[in-house]
Amino acid sequence: MKKVIVIGSGFSGLSTAACLAREGFHVTILEKNETIGGRARQFEAEGFVFDMGPSWYWMPDVFEQFFALFGKKVSDYYNLVRLDPSYQVIFKNPDQPGGIKDVVELPAKMSELEQLFESIEPGSAAKLRKFLSEAEYKYRVGMGEFVHKPSNNIMEFADLRILISLFRLQMFTSLSKHVRKLFKDERLIQILEFPVLFLGATPQNTPALSSLMNYADMSLGTWYPMGGMHKIVEAMADVAREQGVTIKTGQEVAHIETSNGKVTAVTTTDGARYPADALVGSADYHHIETRLLSPENRNYDQKYWDKRVMAPSSLLWYVGVNKRIPGLKHHNLFFDEDFGVHAEDIYTNPKWPAKPLFYASAPSVTDSSVAPEGCENLFLLIPVAPGLEDTPEVRAKYYDMVMERLERFTGEDIRSHVVYERSFAHADFVKDYHAFRGNAYGLANTLLQTAFLKPKMKSNKLSNFWYTGQLTVPGPGVPPSIISGQVVAAELKKWSKQ
Ligand SMILES: Cc1cc2nc3c(=O)[nH]c(=O)nc-3n(C[C@H](O)[C@H](O)[C@H](O)COP(=O)(O)OP(=O)(O)OC[C@H]3O[C@@H](n4cnc5c(N)ncnc54)[C@H](O)[C@@H]3O)c2cc1C
Repeated sequence: MKKVIVIGSGFSGLSTAACLAREGFHVTILEKNETIGGRARQFEAEGFVFDMGPSWYWMPDVFEQFFALFGKKVSDYYNLVRLDPSYQVIFKNPDQPGGIKDVVELPAKMSELEQLFESIEPGSAAKLRKFLSEAEYKYRVGMGEFVHKPSNNIMEFADLRILISLFRLQMFTSLSKHVRKLFKDERLIQILEFPVLFLGATPQNTPALSSLMNYADMSLGTWYPMGGMHKIVEAMADVAREQGVTIKTGQEVAHIETSNGKVTAVTTTDGARYPADALVGSADYHHIETRLLSPENRNYDQKYWDKRVMAPSSLLWYVGVNKRIPGLKHHNLFFDEDFGVHAEDIYTNPKWPAKPLFYASAPSVTDSSVAPEGCENLFLLIPVAPGLEDTPEVRAKYYDMVMERLERFTGEDIRSHVVYERSFAHADFVKDYHAFRGNAYGLANTLLQTAFLKPKMKSNKLSNFWYTGQLTVPGPGVPPSIISGQVVAAELKKWSKQ
């Protein structure tokens, strides 16, 4: 039986490992941290259970498809609930100087969503219907076909049907233009543009193909696995173990041994050696290339990496509050400052933002198991440029800024009720995940960094080595990372039959 080592236990690593074990490979995952899940780890403190990374469960079909590969259903592992409202967006109300009480709640039901659009901009319900029907087509083709391609070269996209689709998919116009052609109200525009922030680029720089994210958001819905997002990690690890995968934590790979154009083994920082017939690296691509491989075995040089546009990093807080906070929903987007100015501070002229937008999640609104009785579990996130200098003083300044806006919006004293607080930013992303420039979610999905223009899954130099995860195809996010693992497993299987 062929031995495969997988570096990293994030979604892409777990997905690769489970799929390969199902095909009869002998698979071991080596994870540097003491707990599994990578950017989606979870921790407990003072009776609160905090998901450390992803909090939005979108594209439920991708998860169902994954578990179906093993004859299972999502419901065999966790209880998924649909959120209603899906989320609320807090805008600045120009009629209330300094006030931020203009709130839009996004209902789960399509008829109610259309009514909401119509009430904000007459005539927009019909436009939304048209917009979402195009977005559905993009979702079906994009998620059904494109993301499952290894994108080794442009020829994979050369068939006529796909070329025609590329135009229908609006690869060559920006999401921003596409949205602004149909809608005029700035709030509706922001609601429709916000999902691409997950892809780590501005709506101006993201192909209109990504309105497929609006279909995911508004038509397929926002879901939540009771117990937290880590339930997905636990379920995938269970599936992997059921298929025979061994998961070893506290095993940091320090070096990849090679001979005659092939990987032969990996060694860990504590000196353990794991021989391998094939290797999959699901840790950050840049880390693997620059720290684990010798220069002649790398796909790219540092100049290449210096030119990549990274998705933003994040300044995060995990906060336990000893009272409930009325007015908060499960997902709250604070768009009460100018997104254009914040985006400049992320992409054009990277610096700590003067007036950032932020996101607050309160999973305890839905799930009593993540906070002690009568308490609120808060996850706060400010998207910021990667590679910034991250100091305790900077973190403290933004904590105050975010808390002040939260208190103003809810009308509640929150700061004096905080019983637990931990922050997480660039330095932690580097320390915990070896993240290139402290990135949170990989490479931005700009047109020039899409599909075959992304860092390649296959090593050019080592015949039995592949990369997977959010820095390669198809891109950042939980569903793409799961798919990335499936694609690599299929490629490795093909190779083993040659
Ligand atoms: C704050 C935040 C919020 C997010 N929100 C969402 C969301 O709401 N919805 C969504 O869909 N996506 C979201 N994402 C994105 C999503 O979480 C990621 O795209 C996905 O988890 C990446 O999975 P991965 O397997 O590619 O990488 P990772 O999860 O980073 O896994 C890589 C693993 O490799 C390990 N590793 C690194 N170096 C070594 C080494 N030398 N030896 C052994 N192991 C090593 C790391 O410890 C890690 O466990 C968010 C991400 C962040 C950070």
